[in-house]
Formats: sequence, structure tokens, C-alpha cells
Amino acid sequence: MIRVQLDAMRRLVTAIFGRAGCPADEAERIAYYLTTANLTGHDSHGVIRVPRYVDWLEQGYVLAGKQVATVLDGGSLLVLDGQHGFGQSVGPEACALGCERARSNGVAVVALRNAGHLGRIGDFAEMAIADGLVSLHFVNVFGSLLVAPFGGKERRFSTNPIAIGVPTGDDRPFVLDMATALVAEGKVLVASQGGKPVPKGALVSAAGELSDDPAELYGDLSGGAYPDPRRGPGAMRAFGDHKGSGLALACDLLGGALSGSGITRKLEGRVHNGMFSIYVDPRRLDTERTFAADVMDYVEWIRGCAPIDTQAGVLIPGDKERQTRAERTAEGLPLTETTWSAILQTARRVGLDEAGIGALTA
Ligand code: NAD
Repeated sequence: MIRVQLDAMRRLVTAIFGRAGCPADEAERIAYYLTTANLTGHDSHGVIRVPRYVDWLEQGYVLAGKQVATVLDGGSLLVLDGQHGFGQSVGPEACALGCERARSNGVAVVALRNAGHLGRIGDFAEMAIADGLVSLHFVNVFGSLLVAPFGGKERRFSTNPIAIGVPTGDDRPFVLDMATALVAEGKVLVASQGGKPVPKGALVSAAGELSDDPAELYGDLSGGAYPDPRRGPGAMRAFGDHKGSGLALACDLLGGALSGSGITRKLEGRVHNGMFSIYVDPRRLDTERTFAADVMDYVEWIRGCAPIDTQAGVLIPGDKERQTRAERTAEGLPLTETTWSAILQTARRVGLDEAGIGALTA
């Protein structure tokens, strides 16, 4: 593992996407959101994605400089089309519109379709919290079949994430942000490269046996093949048996079907995210003015629960990311040599020379 300081990484990633054809503000946003995923401990959604995003841009799967197009504007109901633009552009844009409408109307429902990879969905919950809003986000991934439904041994879902944000009146809000797969695909990737193994049952074989073998997802990697999750014979599994599987299905029904982004089943077209979001302003809904005190009291009571492990304590969703953010802001972002060299390789590919890379990362 090596450590790269946050500012250096942001400068380098901004320069890569600028060179690759993104407008300057978009390149900065991509760098901001990818490094924020690393900062918060979600390395699978961080700068490890730089080579893949540049490939997608070059192949036209994702388009530079796009904004959302309004398909329907019903005041508190918005249907937006991300037009296959970068998720780091169209995602925050859709979220800002949802927050604005919720502030004026008390509530807003935003269906975002055809968004490039939206990355860490908790970013949108955090944006809404900064505006004092509660929000819920259901996301599907059109064209990315990875996960078997409960009781099944064939793929029917993607890793379909859900995020829920609730402001707590202090700087430690509730941010539940999770894939509905038992582990993120990135964790299977790490295991396939000799890293931390995934738990048994994170995968299922084509014969229906619970497994921890990444080959179920990627197929045979012994010849040094690029790990492509479409190649494996098996599937990933949803967390929480029938309950997580039900939530994964809800993500496709809401983020895919209701948003008009397309359900995961269809394999033609570009891989893209659909996101169905609800924004609520508690200042409008909370008639008795009890919400803020109740939330604060309750989360503190949860945190104060006697822990099984006194070192780990009892956390609320969002606490772990804040702890990791504090540590990594100070110490830098930990990266494997493989990830760092793939980013440097991409930097060279888009035309940065060694002196330029050195100046950006100094
Ligand atoms: P995770 O398992 O690391 O965390 C899930 C949630 O559990 C978080 O809210 C976290 O705060 C909470 N948590 C963690 N440890 C805790 C503890 N000890 N006590 C209490 N709460 C705790 O997350 P994940 O499921 O691996 O998801 C990783 C990321 O991948 C998320 O940011 C998600 O949005 C993203 N994702 C994106 C896509 C996409 O298509 N854009 C697809 C899948 C996942």
C-alpha cells in the first residue's frame, strides 16, 4: 500500500479528465467525488475507477459536458434525463434541483434516468442534509447483471444501492448508504487479486452452491485476463437473504422501471444508473417541532448502547465514513501499487508527461 495526499490526487485526477476531454468544472467534480469515495472508505467507488471512466469516455459510453434534460416538470415532481453524461455532473445537478423543489414545496420526487455511473450514492444524501432535508434514493444499474435473487442461482439484479439521509442537527448526520449485494463488486475484485477474501455466501455457483470464489463472478483469471464480471458462471448474492433481495428488486422497480431508466434485464445499450429520489423538508412536515430533538436524542441513545466490542463501540450509519475521512484527510489516501500504477498509466495515455505528473502530485 502507498499513500497519496488528497490534494495531489485531486489535482492529478482533474488533469486526467481535463486532458481526456471533460470541461474544467466537470473534471474537478469527477476528481472531487472519486476522491471523496476514497476519503470515506469506499475505495471500490474511488480513484480505482479512473482508468475505467477514461475508457468509457473514449468509447462513447459516457459523454463529457452533459447536463440533465428536463423531461417533465410538475413542480414537486421532476423527471430528468442524464443523457449518459458523467454521474458526477448529472447526479449533483439532479440532487440540487430536488433540494430546491423540496425547499419550496415541502417535498420533491425526482426520477433521474440514463445517468453515467453515479458513484457513491451517499453523496446525494449528504447534499440534501446540507440543505436540512431528509432524502431517500433508490438506484439500479441498467445493463449490469451481477446478483441472484434470494433462492435463485442466476443473475437478475445489479448491486443496486440505496441511500437514506437524515439531518441530526449536528455534524454527524445519519447517512445509510449501501449496496443491496452482500459485498460490493469491488470487494470481489480485490479478493480475485489475492486481497481480503469475501465471506462464503457472497457468491453462488451456477450449480446453486454458496461460494466465496471470485471465479464465480469473473471466470478463470489465471491467464492474466482483465476481470470482467460478465464472464463468470455464477452470481453475487443479495445481503440479508429474502429481505435484501426484496430491496434489490425495489431498486429496479423504482430506480429502473418508474424512473424510465430501464430495468437491469435489458442488456442492449450503455450501462447506466437510474435513480429515484424523494426529498422532504422536515421544517415543513414537522408540525409539532419534535423532529430535531427526537432525532438527536435517539441517535445519541443508539450510540450510547453498551457495546459488545468496547474498541469498536456502537455507531450510526455515517459514523464509520466520518472516522475514515478524518484519518485519510490527515494521512492521505491508501492505494494498492496496482491501482496507483493504473492511474499513472492512464495519465500518460491522455498525454501527461512525467514532469507534469510530478508537478501535479508534488
Ligand atoms: P458498506 O457496507 O461499507 O456500508 C453500508 C452502510 O453501513 C453505511 O451507511 C455505513 O455508514 C454503515 N456502517 C458501516 N459500518 C457500520 C457499523 N459498524 N455500525 C453501523 N453502521 C455501519 O457499504 P457498501 O454496501 O459496500 O456500499 C459501498 C458504496 O458503493 C456505497 O457508497 C454505495 O452507494 C456504492 N454503490 C454504488 C453503486 C452505483 O451503481 N453507483 C452500486 C453499488 C454500490
